[in-house]
Amino acid sequence: MASLSEPLPTVRPQKPTPPEASWRRELRDAVRDPAELCRLLDLPVELALRIGGPRFPLRAPRPFVARMRSGDRNDPLLRQVWPDLAEDQPPAAGYSADPVGDLASTVTPGLLHKYHGRALLIATSSCAIHCRYCFRREFPYNANTLANQGWSEPLEAIAADPTIEEVILSGGDPLTLVDETLARLVEQLESIEHVRRLRIHTRLPIVLPSRVTDGLVRTLADSRQTVITVVHANHANELDAEVAAALAKLRNASPMLLNQSVLLRGVNDSAAALADLSRRLVQLGVAPYYLHLLDKVVGAGHFAVDNQQAERLIDALRRQLPGYAVPRLAREDAGAPHKTIIA
Ligand SMILES: *Cc1c(COP(=O)(O)O)cnc(C)c1O
Ligand code: SF4
Repeated sequence: MASLSEPLPTVRPQKPTPPEASWRRELRDAVRDPAELCRLLDLPVELALRIGGPRFPLRAPRPFVARMRSGDRNDPLLRQVWPDLAEDQPPAAGYSADPVGDLASTVTPGLLHKYHGRALLIATSSCAIHCRYCFRREFPYNANTLANQGWSEPLEAIAADPTIEEVILSGGDPLTLVDETLARLVEQLESIEHVRRLRIHTRLPIVLPSRVTDGLVRTLADSRQTVITVVHANHANELDAEVAAALAKLRNASPMLLNQSVLLRGVNDSAAALADLSRRLVQLGVAPYYLHLLDKVVGAGHFAVDNQQAERLIDALRRQLPGYAVPRLAREDAGAPHKTIIA
């Protein structure tokens, strides 16, 4: 028993949990074990014994997993994250580790300057999700990740080139950076006078909607630069009520919301799936921007849809949707001055 002379323990008022905490926790808590994913989806656990892509491990945030259909091996969201054995097959002709010529347009580590007026800053190598078709899956990120050094080299390169009027934060996913780090980066970009627009390429509002914190919205809303956010969803099932709320919140900071998708066999390669996606995006105030043909990165060949089929799909969309709801079918050609618009 405590003696009476012992000082009473000081009761500190509990600090309110910062809003960042919940998304950081969710980010860490992603599903990484294929057997667990099988259990969560009522799929035979044996599937987990035969997986591919050892150098790019499974990673799927739980809010994203929650939108997958139970018991369906071919669920379009599951296919995007499942390390299929096909990934280990020898690559077909034309597949490489750097399919879009990123290495050739690197100005300084972490900065790609490929197109006039726009420079792309690899803000971080981290992603909340590992998309199996990702063209950056083979990217030598470590050499290109300068978050720890405060991005001084890329920022100097941007400041030295007055033709750069737009900086695109990409990665990886720039929104995996915590609010404080991101705020510092946005501030530094703001101080470069010729940079008028800030574009954010992110999949986080889709796969981890809790990431759209008040702090994030404030940072972006306070910026003097026009903020454009390009999210990345491939299927209407990715866009649930939580995502809708996150996007509505984000719109307070980023008046322009766009979506880019990748055309993926077995995920969204039908006119019905693409039309549903477009309708849902428009309903949430997001304009379908690009539908990318798969970049020919080693390990992703099983997702490829051929050009003709892709053009037929766009044509089918044009026949049923308003013009603003039809994305541009685009391909990235190494060395070209802009993305190639196919349809
Ligand atoms: C896609 C891309 C851009 C942006 O292109 P937009 O057509 O303006 O969307 C800029 N830089 C790089 C390196 C890109 O890959
Ligand atoms: S979120 Fe984007 S960068 Fe990250 S793995 Fe998916 S496609 Fe690649």
